[in-house]
Amino acid sequence: MSRRRFLQLIAGLLAGSTVTPLPAASVKRIVVVGAGIAGLTAAQTLHQQGHSVTVVEARDRLGGRLWTSNRWQQMPVDLGASWIHGAKDNPLSALADQIKATRLTTRYDNTLTYNSQGKPLSDAETRELERWQQRIDTALESAQSANQDQSVQAAVHKALGWDSLTVREHQLAQFIFNSTLEQEYAGGIHELSAYWYDAAAAFRGDDTLFSKGYQVITEHLASGLDVKLQHTVQKLEWSNPQVSIQTDRGELQADHAIITLPLGVLKTGQVAFSPPLPARKQTAIDTLGMGTLNKCYLRFPTAFWPDDQDWLEYIPTEPGAWTEWVSLQRVAGWSVLLGFNAAERGKRIEQWSDAQIVADAMQTLRTLFGNAIPDPLDYQITRWNADPFARGAYSFNSIGSTPDMRDHLAERLGNTVFFAGEATERKHFSSVHGAYLSGLRAAQQILDLNKG
Ligand SMILES: Cc1cc2nc3c(=O)[nH]c(=O)nc-3n(C[C@H](O)[C@H](O)[C@H](O)COP(=O)(O)OP(=O)(O)OC[C@H]3O[C@@H](n4cnc5c(N)ncnc54)[C@H](O)[C@@H]3O)c2cc1C
Repeated sequence: MSRRRFLQLIAGLLAGSTVTPLPAASVKRIVVVGAGIAGLTAAQTLHQQGHSVTVVEARDRLGGRLWTSNRWQQMPVDLGASWIHGAKDNPLSALADQIKATRLTTRYDNTLTYNSQGKPLSDAETRELERWQQRIDTALESAQSANQDQSVQAAVHKALGWDSLTVREHQLAQFIFNSTLEQEYAGGIHELSAYWYDAAAAFRGDDTLFSKGYQVITEHLASGLDVKLQHTVQKLEWSNPQVSIQTDRGELQADHAIITLPLGVLKTGQVAFSPPLPARKQTAIDTLGMGTLNKCYLRFPTAFWPDDQDWLEYIPTEPGAWTEWVSLQRVAGWSVLLGFNAAERGKRIEQWSDAQIVADAMQTLRTLFGNAIPDPLDYQITRWNADPFARGAYSFNSIGSTPDMRDHLAERLGNTVFFAGEATERKHFSSVHGAYLSGLRAAQQILDLNKG
């Protein structure tokens, strides 16, 4: 898409939902599968250009992996994405400005790291951790110029002489693997490609979150759209010039369809394509990774942790167990802690009951802040991997995958079926802004096709 055209489309979305009428013969029937941000962005863009758009969504709500919970009065918390990552020049910041959405900035320099005994790191311990971080960074840099791809784990284990390290050294290194790699990319280090794990581009600037939650964006993008909730797509029959979309509540016919199914859902094959998907798209689906990141919000009567910090980190004895916490006290004034579990550990604890997860989290918090701290007043827990309409949190570049595979995933099927969604973005996969850009791209493809 040309930069000029792209800016025009964004300007359209920013201006609100004014619909440009088209002559009846030029109006196309378009079905968008999925009411996440990719689907809503594509649908709103095409709707504004005068096309007849229907969005079909399996869930009983909008947003997909954007999901603001309003269970706690005056404390809307995001169970899916929270942040605009890199707010400067990020297209989502422009959208948020337009709807005057208040944002809060969490800062990584407001981070306190605790050792395995629950004490804040001493200066000597901080320097030791920095040395390990440097060794790991060097190992990963050299893995990126090696002759062959390997997993991040294979690369760092070899470079660090893993088998000769002490238990404590293992804990330090595993903390770095989890806090800087697995929590960010959602894949385990044994799955992440050493060549491509960090291939996504980033916007500059702070990470900001919405004081009323990401719902403000999804609601804005959905305004005026025909969205059919609780319609699960089961099969797509595509052959030029028509596409038939079969749902559990009937069939829709369209000139074009835009598929925004999460990579995790595409991997299960629960939506059938007839004719089958081309081989290289199927290979991309099979090879790219779908990661796990789960959240556990705990609400307390008052903050018992350092309330000037945004991030609390912990070097656990069990790899990946509650290494990262966000405090909402400083930014929002809420006595709420958000604990994360990513990759293998994130997947594993989905099998536990809520009570087990909360007890496990509280054990860590008692290690950090003492046995006298109160139990939470309430909690909210996610299980993104088990979610049938997500099957994971977001995509990552797994060993064996290449950036080209993202393009293959994005490739259209003739003039009929188009693809969007975070995983289809070569440069901005795994993010909300990537999904948003992919929605604009798919809408533009349809507009280009129907020009004149
Ligand atoms: C816990 C977590 C934290 C995250 N944190 C951040 C963050 O802070 N910042 C950031 O930039 N990104 C973050 N992300 C990633 C971000 O949320 C996603 O990249 C983005 O929301 C994906 O949007 P999408 O439109 O591509 O997919 P989705 O939002 O998943 O939309 C796809 C839609 O398709 C629907 N669907 C699935 N199957 C069917 C079917 N058979 N029929 C009909 N509909 C179907 C789904 O219900 C869904 O609504 C996070 C994700 C998670 C899970």
